[in-house]
Amino acid sequence: MNRAIDQALRERALKVIPNGMYGHESVRLLPASFPQFFSKGEGAYIWDADGNRYLDFMCAYGPSLLGYRHPQVDAAARAQLEKGDTLTGPGPVMVELAETLVGMIDHADWVMFCKNGTDATTMAMSTARAQTGKRVVLVAQGAYHGAAPWCTPIPAGVVAEDRAHIRTYIYNDCASLEQAVAAAGDDLAAIFAAPFRHDAFTDQELPDPAYAKLARALCDRTGAKLIVDEVRAGFRLARGSSWDALGVQPDLSAWGKCFANGHPISMLAGAESCREGAGSIYATGSFWLSAVPMAAAIETLRIIRETDYLEHSVRLGDALRAGLAEAATRHGFTLRQSGPVQMPQILFADDPDFRIGYAWVEELLARGIYMHPWHNMFLCAAMTEGDIDMALAAADEAFAAVRARIDTLEPHPVLVAMAAMLEHHD
Ligand code: PMP
Repeated sequence: MNRAIDQALRERALKVIPNGMYGHESVRLLPASFPQFFSKGEGAYIWDADGNRYLDFMCAYGPSLLGYRHPQVDAAARAQLEKGDTLTGPGPVMVELAETLVGMIDHADWVMFCKNGTDATTMAMSTARAQTGKRVVLVAQGAYHGAAPWCTPIPAGVVAEDRAHIRTYIYNDCASLEQAVAAAGDDLAAIFAAPFRHDAFTDQELPDPAYAKLARALCDRTGAKLIVDEVRAGFRLARGSSWDALGVQPDLSAWGKCFANGHPISMLAGAESCREGAGSIYATGSFWLSAVPMAAAIETLRIIRETDYLEHSVRLGDALRAGLAEAATRHGFTLRQSGPVQMPQILFADDPDFRIGYAWVEELLARGIYMHPWHNMFLCAAMTEGDIDMALAAADEAFAAVRARIDTLEPHPVLVAMAAMLEHHD
C-alpha cells in the first residue's frame, strides 16, 4: 500500500505539532503500517491521505453512529449553516434539542450542551459537588472519563492536588464499591460508572445488575449523585439511558461522541434533584452553543427514534462475532471477544504483549479493514451484510498470514515502553 503522502505529512507534522500528533488519534501505539492522516469518509468507509480505502471499525472512536456524511444529518447541518452557526446567542434549535433529549432520556429533566465528552464529565463532577456540598468522587479503576487533570490517564502535567478527592473502586465489584463509599465518610459527592466496562487493553465487562443497583442505593443512602458516563456507549446500547435496562436511573449522565453523528456537541443531562447545582456552576465555551451541531443532533435523534439503526448494528455485530470465532478456531487461535457486539473488543488469548493482535490488525489493514488491537471498536448503521462478509474473508486470510509468521512476531516497542512507564508510576 502506498503511504508516501502520509509519510510526508508526518514529517511536516513533526516540525509543527508536538510528536507529530497527540491524544487518542495518534498512531504511536498502533502498528507501524497504520496511516496517521485520513482524507475522507463516507458511510462505513474511510480513505487515508494516500487514497487507500478501509472499512472502518473505529467510527472515529465513536462519533459515527449512522455512517460518515449521513445525507439527512448533513443536510440539516448545512441548512443551519446557511443561517448561522456560532452567534452572539444560541439559536432556537437549542431549546428544541433540549426538549427532544429530555423526552428521550428518562432521568433527564434538563440538559446543558458543551463540546467534548470531557466537558460533560467534568461538568457532571462539578454539578454533583455543587449540589451536595461534598468533595469525594469515586471512579472505577482504569475507566476513562476524559483528558482533564482530574481524569487523564497519563500523569504528565498533573499534580496530586488536581486529584485530591478522586478515589477509585473496582467496576462490578460490590465489596470494593462499598469500601470506597465507607472510606469517603460523609464527604461523598458522586459515584461515576460507565454503562459497561469498556477499558482499553482488556476484556470488556457488562454491568452486573447488583453492582448498578448497589451504586444507586449507596447514592440514595449518602445523598451522593450517581453519574453514568454515556460518552462512548450512549445511544449504542439503547435509545435512551443505557442503565434503563437494569432498572437503574442515574442522577446525572454525560453524553458526547455520536448523538449528532460526528458533529461536535456533547451534553450533561440531569434529574430535577441536580438542577440547582447545575445552575450554580459557571460552565461555558466559545463554541458550546453553536447551532449547526444542534441541528445535526435533532436530525440524528430523529433517526435514532424512527429507524432500526440499533437492531441492524446488533445483527451485524452478531454475525461478525460468530464468524470471527469460527475463523479463528480454524486457524488455531482463540479470540477473546467481549462487550456488546456492536461495540466489540477483540483480543487474542495467550497474547500478553499484544504481538499477535498487532500482527492480525496489520494484516487486516493491508486487506482494507481498519480494526484496533486494544481499544473497543464500533459498528455503524451504514455497514451492510456484504461489509461483514468482506471483513470475515479478510480476517480469514489475516489469521492464515499471522499463523505463517507467528514465530517472528515482536511486541510493539512504544507499547512496551508505555507499560513500563505506567507500572513504574503506580
Ligand atoms: N468518557 C468516555 C467514556 C469516553 O470514552 C471519552 C472519550 N473516549 C470521554 C469521556 C471523553 O470524551 P472526549 O474525548 O470527547 O473529551
